[in-house]
Formats: sequence, C-alpha cells, structure tokens
Amino acid sequence: MATYWTRTLIPTLRQDPAEAEVPSHRLMLRAGLIRQLSAGLYTYLPLGWRALHKAIQIVRAEMDAAGAAEMFMPAIEPIELLAETKREIEYGPDLFRFEDRRGHVNALAPTHEEVITEAMRAYVESYRQLPLNLYQIQTKFRDEPRPRFGVLRCREFIMKDAYSFHLTVDGPGGLDETYRRMYDAYCRIFDRCGLHYEIVEAESGPIGGSASHEFMVICDTGEDTILKSDKGNYSANVDKCAIGERKWTLDGSPTGELETMHTPDCASIEAVGKFMRVKPKHILKIVLYQNKDITDITRDFATELSDLARVSGRAAPREHLEAKDKRGESTSQSIPHLESIVAVVRGDHAVNEGKLSAAAGCNVELMNPDAAQRIGLAVGFVSPSVMADKLDLRVRGLLVVDPDAAQDQFWASGANEIDHHVKHFNWKRDVLDLIDSSRIKVADIRNAADGDPSPIGDGGVLRVHKGIEVGHVFKLGTKYSDAMGFTVLDENQKQRPVIMGCYGIGLGRILAAAIETSHDEDGIIWPAAIAPYCVHIVPIKFDGELCKTCSDLAGELEAAGLDVLIDDRPERPGVKFKDADLIGCPIRLTVSDKTLAKDSVELKLRRERESKGELVRRDEIVARCADIISGMSV
Ligand code: ATP
Ligand code: MG
Repeated sequence: MATYWTRTLIPTLRQDPAEAEVPSHRLMLRAGLIRQLSAGLYTYLPLGWRALHKAIQIVRAEMDAAGAAEMFMPAIEPIELLAETKREIEYGPDLFRFEDRRGHVNALAPTHEEVITEAMRAYVESYRQLPLNLYQIQTKFRDEPRPRFGVLRCREFIMKDAYSFHLTVDGPGGLDETYRRMYDAYCRIFDRCGLHYEIVEAESGPIGGSASHEFMVICDTGEDTILKSDKGNYSANVDKCAIGERKWTLDGSPTGELETMHTPDCASIEAVGKFMRVKPKHILKIVLYQNKDITDITRDFATELSDLARVSGRAAPREHLEAKDKRGESTSQSIPHLESIVAVVRGDHAVNEGKLSAAAGCNVELMNPDAAQRIGLAVGFVSPSVMADKLDLRVRGLLVVDPDAAQDQFWASGANEIDHHVKHFNWKRDVLDLIDSSRIKVADIRNAADGDPSPIGDGGVLRVHKGIEVGHVFKLGTKYSDAMGFTVLDENQKQRPVIMGCYGIGLGRILAAAIETSHDEDGIIWPAAIAPYCVHIVPIKFDGELCKTCSDLAGELEAAGLDVLIDDRPERPGVKFKDADLIGCPIRLTVSDKTLAKDSVELKLRRERESKGELVRRDEIVARCADIISGMSV
C-alpha cells in the first residue's frame, strides 16, 4: 500500500535547526526523519525508520548470504560479566550502569562480546562445532562524552554486531577465512547502500598486522582522521598509520652552549615558541608515560608519596622510595614501581600511544602528574636530559625518540625546571654521553601527518582526509576466550582457547553518512536502496480525477516493487515541491490536469537538480520508474 502523507508523520521544517552542526544532522531533522529526545537520544520518525529499515534489510541479507546466523541478545547484562574481562573498568564512565530492585548492578550493553562468549562457553565444547559466525541487530548504549552530529554519535544506537569463533587463524574454518568473508560482505553492503567508502587499516589489537579494518566514508565532517598514500596503495586510520623511513642521528655536534631562559606563563609549545622566537618544529615535545600494566602499584606509590609529603611537609626522601622498591610483591628489582617511558617528538607533532607502546614493549598510559611531580620532575618543562639526572635515581626509564626529533639541528627544550627552557639542546652532549645506550631508542612514535612518506616505501606521500567510520572488522584473537575461560577440545583432545573475530556496523551512521555525502542546498539526495520511498507522487491538487490517478499509479508502481509516497496535503504546489526536494526520494512524479490532458505524468529525478522534468506517457511510466531504480541499484 502506498503511503499518504496525511496518514503518516513527516514533520518537515522550513528553518535550519540551530543545534545541528553538520549537514546530515540538519537534514535529518528538517526532513522529519528523526527527533531528538535528549542529548544523543533520537526517535526515528516514520521516514527515518523506513530508511533505516532498508539499510537493516541489506545488512541482514548480506550477513545471511555470508553464512552468519542471526540471533538476539538482551541489552541488559549483569556487571559481573563485564568484570570477567575487566571491561567494567575499561569502559569507565561510557558504561551505563544501574541497580535493579534486588540490588544487582547491571549494565546496558555497549557491545556484546561477553554476552555471546558466555553463551558459546556453555554450548560449544569441541572444535567440531566450529567455526561459527553469529550476529544480531540490536541497540547499543554508550554514554559518549560528546554525543553530537545527530545519529552519527549518539548514546543509544542500533548496531549490527557479529562474532566469529575458530580453532585456528589459518586454513579452512580459520579466523582469516571468516574475516575475509566479512570484509567482502561489508563491501557489498556499503556498495548496495550507495556509499563511497575507503577501507583503512586500523588499530590491530592482539593479533597484529592487518588485523583490523575500518570502513570509512570520506567527508570533511567525519570525526576520524585517515591518511592515504597519493599512490593509492595504502590507507590507514591515524591511530595506526605507519610512516615511511626517515633518516635520523643523535650524534651531531652542539649548535652552541646550553643557554637557559626564564619562560614564564608559557602553557603550550606555541606559547614557548613565541616567547623564545623559535618555531615549534625546533622545540622538543616531551611527554611522560608509564607502563600501564603496573599502574595499580604506581597509584599506590603515588598515594604513598603524597602521604609522606603531607606528613613530612616535603618531598619523599629517597630511602622511602627504595624501601618501597624492596617491599614490592609483584615486582622484583628489575621491574620497578614507576616504570617511566619518556616520549620525545617534534613540537609540531603528536605522540601516538599505540606506536609508543609497540616501541616500548609494554602498554603505556600518561604518567600521573602528581606522581611525576613528587619524584621531582618539572612536569611541562622536562628535557630529555632528565634521563641522566632524575629518572634513573628512582625508576627505570626508557627514552623513546621519534626520528624527526632525533636530528642534528638547533633544538629548544625544557630545562628540567619550572618555567625554564634551554636553547641549543644537543642529543650527544646532553643525553647520549651520560646514559646507557640501552635506555634510549629511536622509533616511529608519532601520528602521521599530511606530507609524510608512505610506509610502502615507493615514494608515495601521505595525504590527510576526514572520514566517518560506518563499519569495523576486527581479529580479536583470544582476548575474550582467555579472560572468560572459553576453550574447546582440539583433535588431540587438548583444551585450546577459542580464537574470535568481531564485526560491527553502525546502522544509523549508514543513513547519516549517505546524507553527508549526497545532498544539496535543497535537501537529501537518497541513494535508491535506502531511500524511504523510491517514488514520490506530487499531485498539484488532490481532488477529483487526480486522486484516482494517483492511487491507480501508486498501485501499479507498488506492484512493480517500488514503494510510493503520495503527497495528498492541501498545500500549494511550491510547498510540496520544496518538501519533495528536502526528503529527497529518487523519483518525483508530478500529476496535474495539464499532464493528464496529455495522458502523461511529469518525471523528475532528484539527483538532476537543474532538469525541468520530462513528460512520460501514462502507460510507460511504471516501466520507466522500475528501470531507473534498478539502474541506480547495485
Ligand atoms: P567510534 O570510534 O566512532 O567511537 P567505535 O570504534 O567505538 O566507534 P565500534 O565499537 O567499532 O565503534 O562499533 C561498531 C560500529 O558502531 C562503528 O563502526 C560505528 O559505525 C557504530 N558506532 C559506534 N559508536 C557509535 C555511536 N556513539 N553512535 C552511533 N554509531 C556508533
Ligand atoms: Mg571501531
């Protein structure tokens, strides 16, 4: 049955809503697709729901075709389940928690790895039951710190999430095989949805290599930063993007005597640069990290230090620190309490924590500034030479320098003293000659930037783009099965942890990304496959003969598999045309006494903005519309 405008709810808006910052958000509100209930919470109104439903059906069909089985899990999960994998802590304030009437704490699931693993652990005992790939289309809850851009980043959203289970990575039935199948299915899904996307390497997690890919719709309003080689053979998320080889040296001779300057009120590299009259790319940026895996101890350590300082009114004396070293239970002399990693990049670059972790050989996190201050570090004014005179007294430290910072040139740097910087810092004189070479490492530890060499090493240059992540495929490895004790018996009757993959798609983001990349100043230009309706019939006035013509025409179109919206409102034609452009169905058919006198209707394609429309004979129109829509579909 065709839909009559007056029998559904399409609250189009004349004005741009003030709160909408990006085109998709603005147009989804204006076209009456969604309504905001509260920050990051949206109602899908009938038009929006129809479009979403079409995307869901495409996703479902392709997942089924790729051999995945659909199921449905609860949105509520007991907190103990997330505690099994420590994600109860990892998710932090993003996790919605609540207490039920029995006093049990539950979470609204932000994703379902634990829930599916719990079920699999109960039912799957033997490798013979693997591989399996299970998926659901369900609501997820994340208390995002900055919900924004409409359904692009909200606190409640519908995701397709799939989880696969394997005994091996390689070979038939292995993770790689399903990963590839999901990757291909994603390409078909996004092709069918009419999206122009880029597949980028993303942070890879435990298995390493190309173990994670994101499907990104490139557009300026995207929140993700992507780098693409201009040779077209490499693209990656900035989180992961490697940089081609860069020459470096720590052996250059000094550019002058070390000169200390008082630099008051300089809170940023830019401010320091201005004050010292030095460009940021000639200033060393030092960021203090610590080994994340011993953070609990570090936190205790920081508390203890602060207690000591409070009691004695001064910084903790060294013997206390050493006593703590000796008492440490889970630590030996070689694994101290505060394992620091000092990252050095050029002032105009940013440290990449993933790369730094790989270079340091441990997971890093920013050093607690209190702890840093209490061991005497001039936080914000540290120099790489701190390795020679401060850190080694109390902690094991590793200095990791990005190749662009390991250069033979003029450098300004912190002076290891609050509000002071030095000029003419020299790597050899001020660090290398003073510390054991095993404590300094040069490695790619920064975010790639526009103009960097491509890691492929073919002379390609990396260029920056912005993108919207619509989907993500990820080789999880045994992270969840290890944490939750999910093993199966292999051919030799040995228990082996199950290897997992996970595959997500944000359904709302498909719509928003489609609109973001396909609209004009009048409204949305829907890709046919996810348009709320294929054909929008606009009668110039809805009475008499025209009513019957519209309903007959709609019946024929629907019989040909095209869904139809009829604008039966008693509005002026101008208003109806404006709304038709705004809601953006691919085909508009205008019916009037004039067109009927010629036994025709006027056909206009939404994507052909300038065209006047074409009179098509009444007995040809259905076939024409069907042809157009099938030509627009993949
Ligand atoms: P992001 O980096 O954008 O926060 P994510 O990497 O945390 O996303 P995943 O856990 O990989 O997201 O979720 C799978 C998919 O769910 C994403 O590719 C995205 O399309 C969608 N998604 C994630 N978070 C949101 C959100 N807050 N609002 C809408 N869709 C989301
Ligand atoms: Mg992701």
